[in-house]
Amino acid sequence: MEQDKDINQFDIPLAKRTYLYKSNSIFFKKLLILSPFLFILFSIIALRMIRNIELAPLDNRNFQAERNQDHRILGHLPYNEIPKKKLVLIEPNIEVHIDMRDSLLKMREEAIKDGIYLVFLSGFRSINLQNDIFYSLKSIRNQEASERARVSAPPGYSEHSTGFAIDIGDGTQRETDFEVEFENTDAFRWLIKNAAKYHFKLSFNKNNKYIDYEPWHWRYEGSIEALKIFETSNREL
Ligand SMILES: [Zn+2]
Repeated sequence: MEQDKDINQFDIPLAKRTYLYKSNSIFFKKLLILSPFLFILFSIIALRMIRNIELAPLDNRNFQAERNQDHRILGHLPYNEIPKKKLVLIEPNIEVHIDMRDSLLKMREEAIKDGIYLVFLSGFRSINLQNDIFYSLKSIRNQEASERARVSAPPGYSEHSTGFAIDIGDGTQRETDFEVEFENTDAFRWLIKNAAKYHFKLSFNKNNKYIDYEPWHWRYEGSIEALKIFETSNREL
């Protein structure tokens, strides 16, 4: 009753009021027909919003990676795999970049003259092989990726995939292969004294802040291509 009274306070003819009422009715009917479509529309909007919330931390991480100028992963810089045609086999199972072959073989010859027997342990490694090494050894050693990365590069992040890296041992002390103890061998002492003459450089020295010391791992920097590849690494160490 009170509502009627209120409505009557406005000076609106009855006909118009009926018209308004009908108009509302049509509007609600339309709304009712459209409701399934509106439901779908709102669902899509809601799902997109949820998805955006889920993606937000990932986007943020990508942004951080872009800001991180050197793009390291677990301390390792990214390296592309050298095209097969630039590789050359220097002995069974040891392939290296063709540009470093002569210098490497010359270094070994010269060492022999001094009574030093350099043994090549590992040269080029494909990203696939690095994948196997990184993931299989990680699980064998029960190590987390970050621990494993101290001693082995994640696939796509090894200097070995460039063809310009070589792991060297001492032919008279094979028990020191891939061990820090290699630094106590005559071969290592000879390398420290002479490797630079052949454009070889120790990649991960004792003071490097990213990766464990690897006295056996040397890289070639005797060509423009090699220097370009290792430029970031040289700038930072
Ligand atoms: Zn190595």
